[in-house]
Order: sequence, then structure tokens, then C-alpha cells
Amino acid sequence: MKVLDHIGIAVQSLERSRAFYEALGMTVEGGEEVASQKVRVAFLPVEGTRLELLEPTAPESPIAKFIEKRGEGLHHLCFRVDDVRAAMAGLREKGYTLLSEEPQPGAHGALVCFVHPKSSGGVLIELSQPGEGHP
Ligand code: ZN
Repeated sequence: MKVLDHIGIAVQSLERSRAFYEALGMTVEGGEEVASQKVRVAFLPVEGTRLELLEPTAPESPIAKFIEKRGEGLHHLCFRVDDVRAAMAGLREKGYTLLSEEPQPGAHGALVCFVHPKSSGGVLIELSQPGEGHP
């Protein structure tokens, strides 16, 4: 678990936020709608990792709720794992709380899970097992 796969940032508007990062010289490479999380995402590569901009697509989206409570901003860190089920089992065994029983479908065919922030010092942590054909 040594690769910071991406940094998730909750935004009201992908269009407005990407314009800012593009003004910094970054480029959006890949985006899609992740139905399971009710978000549209855009990825911007930066040295060694990526930013993931997350825009809610429905009021009940976890990202919509986050923005409502805390405003736009840093949302989660995602670490890449080889086997998300094994990582989940290991954390559960040590008494940490996960936000789902089973891995969820993430962007680009990845399997992901989230660790409850109360288990990780207030930082929402995502673990991601890349999908087939992931770069
Ligand atoms: Zn993420």
C-alpha cells in the first residue's frame, strides 16, 4: 500500500474547477460517471499521482452531502492495493471500520472501499484495486 493513487476533491462544478487546474497547467485525462457513488469525476495527472475532481449527480450523493456539511474541498486520499478484499479483511481484523461490507465499483473498472474517518484520524481513506488494463 505505497502508491497514492489519487487525491479526491469535492466540487460543485467540474467545469469551473477543471478550469482552475487547467490554468495551473494541468490537463484532464479521463473522466466518467460513477453510478455507485452518484458522482461525475475528472482525473488530472500530477507528478506521481492524480487529482480526482468529484461532482455530485444527485442530492443523495455522498459528495453532495459532504459539500452541504463542509463545503467544497479535500475529500479523500486513495491508496492503491493489489487485493482490496484482503486489505479490507486485514483492517477489519484490526478493528477498523469500513463504509461498506463489499468492495464497490470505482472509476476505470477499479474495485474500491472506504475506511471510516473515525478509524483514520479524520481523513477519509479510499483503497483501490485497479481494474484490468489500468495503466
Ligand atoms: Zn477516489
